[in-house]
Amino acid sequence: MSSEFIPQEGSCSCFSNTYMINNTPIGRFICHCSICQEFTGQAYNDVTILLKPDVSQLNLIRTKFRRWKLPPNISRGLCTRCNKPSIEMALGGSLILVPTTNYPDIAALPEPTMHLFYNRRASDMDDDLPKYNGFVQSQAMIVKALAQGLYKRVAKR
Ligand SMILES: [Zn+2]
Repeated sequence: MSSEFIPQEGSCSCFSNTYMINNTPIGRFICHCSICQEFTGQAYNDVTILLKPDVSQLNLIRTKFRRWKLPPNISRGLCTRCNKPSIEMALGGSLILVPTTNYPDIAALPEPTMHLFYNRRASDMDDDLPKYNGFVQSQAMIVKALAQGLYKRVAKR
């Protein structure tokens, strides 16, 4: 993958909420937890992780943030108009999570590296990605993936 990321304008499905994504996500994974299922209205959340400075021009007037019980540090924004995911914030906004469905050009994104909360899956996934179960294992793998993504980012400079 090239190191140049062409900025994309992310949005919810009805384009009421928009933002510019200016850098390659540091991670991408597929989460099957029941909260992601409820949040997306789909079987799973194929989501990217970005750092706060990677996302600019946030226009989130029609986003309503809500915190589910777990994980406690994620604030999930739903569009008040289309009721689809807008954007998610973690660690007080230091990390930004954008579902891949909100990108106009998904092909420019890194491939997903793993399935999380696979024990909660709505259906089996036919791929070779590692599959992790439960909160403790999934949380540990997120932290590891974040560290690797950050390292790649720093090493590139
Ligand atoms: Zn919308």
